[in-house]
Amino acid sequence: MEYYNINNPSEKVSLKSAVLQSISSELGLYMPEYIPKLPDAFFNKLSDYSLQDIAFEVSKVMLGDDVPDNELINIVGQSLAFPIPLRRLNENLFVLELFHGPTLAFKDIGARFMAGLFNYFLKNESRKVTILVATSGDTGSAVANAFYNRDGVNVVILYPSGKVSELQEKQLTTMGGNITALEVEGSFDDCQRIVKQAFADKELNSRINLTSANSINFARLFPQSFYYFHAFAQLGKIDKPVVISIPSGNFGNITAALIAKKMGLPVHQFIASTNINHIVPDYLMSGKFEPHPSHQTISNAMDVGNPSNFPRMLDLYGNNHSALTDDIKGFWFTDDQTRSAMSEVYNTLDYQADPHGAIAYAGLKKYGLSPDHISIFAETAHPAKFPFEVEKATGKMVQIPAALKNLLILEKKATKVPAEYGKFRELIG
Ligand SMILES: *Cc1c(COP(=O)(O)O)cnc(C)c1O
Repeated sequence: MEYYNINNPSEKVSLKSAVLQSISSELGLYMPEYIPKLPDAFFNKLSDYSLQDIAFEVSKVMLGDDVPDNELINIVGQSLAFPIPLRRLNENLFVLELFHGPTLAFKDIGARFMAGLFNYFLKNESRKVTILVATSGDTGSAVANAFYNRDGVNVVILYPSGKVSELQEKQLTTMGGNITALEVEGSFDDCQRIVKQAFADKELNSRINLTSANSINFARLFPQSFYYFHAFAQLGKIDKPVVISIPSGNFGNITAALIAKKMGLPVHQFIASTNINHIVPDYLMSGKFEPHPSHQTISNAMDVGNPSNFPRMLDLYGNNHSALTDDIKGFWFTDDQTRSAMSEVYNTLDYQADPHGAIAYAGLKKYGLSPDHISIFAETAHPAKFPFEVEKATGKMVQIPAALKNLLILEKKATKVPAEYGKFRELIG
């Protein structure tokens, strides 16, 4: 299987190059030359399969030409070593809990699978790789955790100063070792822009092997399809259409879900739910894609003004706006609406959602919760990552897992940098 550059489809590279470079030098995203279908036999047995069985079968049809079975089994075993439960909240409503990994957000799944693939591709090589990652809160810690102490890999995290929660910041800045945290005096968009500038910097790239662990990297994005199959496996036999709402910022999670559908997963409707950074819901309404500077919200992992996976969504639908809007509805919510949704989920369903999951629930509700279909919302982070807002909205203390509590007493180690490329460039060489 080859991977083409969306901006220049005749440029094709191997999986290894797509993963180790993550983006073409002209900043084009890579996509597999076709999306393989899973056989009927897979779907017939789906409810007997474990999460790891599913991850193996799904990755085998996509990556199997390039990665041998025994390696895939290893990677799957190491990266998906925690549960991804689908919990029933009432007769027709479920929550898919994606936060049971080591850093308590769904980014662990992609980051750990990607680290496994890196390990495989770099095994017999002496080259050193620097992973640049712009984070709006959760990606940085997932990537740091997945790549901590790995030979031949340095991780440089850029995060927006004052725009991530205290716990998120501690997760990013207390690891040390091969992990460097840069506190950028700007927004997440500034962080993402600096990373993209670094990829376009030919001189820098001639000296350092740069790659990204953001969802622009197909190896980070693709594993996020596994858990949608796993959700259907957990539903078992159903005779109703399934609606899935996904809280979206860079739209990597939902792009992976769209890939799952193309591979054969019978999802009836996707809901892209987000905050006031509503560039994609606006596109779905108007057909116009107009990035703008991001606004800060209490669902900070979605404070993205130029969602990087949007070109992949278009590509999956052949740039056909009406085909895209058939499959995806988009809704957005203010911070006050997010707080109300957290209260409502807690008061009516006895479930403490984080701000991102609450927005996904609000999206389901706006679309219409009906006994005629099954509704699922993705809970992308543990509520303990946002204790202040969650406790205020629900009136109930959040249980902070021990791993996070211990972090709070560690000392933050980060280098402050202005939101300009020149200074960043001096720092990383
Ligand atoms: C990253 C993140 C999102 C947004 O996911 P995308 O793949 O960027 O759309 C939503 N919720 C949480 C908690 C996140 O960390």
